[in-house]
Amino acid sequence: MPDSRRHPTPPGQEPLHPDTLMVSHGHDPARARGAIKMPVYHSSTFVFGSAEEGAAFFDVAAGRAPAPAEGDGGLVYGRFDHPNLQLVEARLAALDGAEAALVTASGMAAISTALFASLRPGEQIVHSRPLYGGTETLIGKQLAAWGVGATAFDDGLSQTQMASALETAAARGRVGVFFIETPANPVNALVDLAAVDAALSDFAARHGYRPLSICDNTLLGPLFQQPLRHGIDLVVTALTKYVGGHSDLLGGGISGSVEHLQPLRQWRSTTGCMLDPQSAWLLARSMETLGLRMRRAEATACAVADWLAGHPRHVIEVLHPEHIDDARYRAVYARQCQGAGSTFSLVLGGGQAAAFRFINALRLFRSAVSLGGSESLVCHPASTTHSGVAPELRARSGVVDGLVRLSIGLEHEDDLIADLAGALTVALGPGAVVP
Ligand SMILES: *Cc1c(COP(=O)(O)O)cnc(C)c1O
Repeated sequence: MPDSRRHPTPPGQEPLHPDTLMVSHGHDPARARGAIKMPVYHSSTFVFGSAEEGAAFFDVAAGRAPAPAEGDGGLVYGRFDHPNLQLVEARLAALDGAEAALVTASGMAAISTALFASLRPGEQIVHSRPLYGGTETLIGKQLAAWGVGATAFDDGLSQTQMASALETAAARGRVGVFFIETPANPVNALVDLAAVDAALSDFAARHGYRPLSICDNTLLGPLFQQPLRHGIDLVVTALTKYVGGHSDLLGGGISGSVEHLQPLRQWRSTTGCMLDPQSAWLLARSMETLGLRMRRAEATACAVADWLAGHPRHVIEVLHPEHIDDARYRAVYARQCQGAGSTFSLVLGGGQAAAFRFINALRLFRSAVSLGGSESLVCHPASTTHSGVAPELRARSGVVDGLVRLSIGLEHEDDLIADLAGALTVALGPGAVVP
């Protein structure tokens, strides 16, 4: 069991690097009969040492008494907390540079916990666009049914647009949450985190309160972007993607201050959307190689994007962060991202027909939604992940019919490039590409 969830290192000591912390942080072998790795604690309930201890543990679990400065308030029941959950939460908090973290059954469980626990009927949410499809549905359907209004802005690089969306929303009700996703899937559009902070400070000066800011950090997090360091209150991550990293589990994370997380922790405890012990154990195992995997996939994706960009006759656009040629974008990218990640899109001339021929001709890249796994994936957003989005909204976000999204995995870059070269030849006709 972890002894200290909140501080990766005791005060006064040199902080350890995340790569180091991922190997053993949060597990004390002495508390697990010497096991070098934490076992899976398949246990729905936990025995109290005495009736008095049970009462004291319950006061903490129910939020009636504060958690002690060191450790937890005692384990009570698997829906509130369990050892494997505590381990991955300690590690996620270390990765995100957060005081604490909550881990949930999926990325959408994390996002819905963050939104439902933070908003009340009649309140407003302001959000960037495009958003992940599930988030779009949650805001547009479920939250709307609970009387929460939504206002979107399209240009995440414009503080003016953020400010005017905030004012529009404030005219309709109290603005409870400012929600962003950056980079946004599948076009790698960025939201300027410094501009968000400034827009919210201006808003607070005028209206006397500051909406809670939440950032979906799935595409670059937790390695290549740390929104908490740029003034964002809560970070949500689909751990299903890079952190799980092997396409064999679903999970979600929320990181932030203990205070901001308190109402979310209660929401999770009552709705029961915590991650189960087996998946938490798999996730802890994946975290040990997170740095190796993300850096390797990123380097391979950069090589693949460079190769694709070298064939401008047939590939119209390569929407990889290193190839987006816009001065405002480049400035924000340099300021808030430490890497490009390994998910990006290309736009083929020839629309959907060419995109389908291309996808069907690929042999190594599997045609599936999701991203961040060890295997490379290809997907056609306009007909799959974004098919529910109105065509004009899709076009406004750059999700055109010729756009194909790649998630680069851990295969050798030469094999991936050879596969892409073969498929481009099939899709665009012979002579299109010389590998
Ligand atoms: C996949 C994803 C989610 C949702 O995660 P699930 O684990 O599938 O619920 C949320 N946001 C982004 C950006 C994603 O890619």
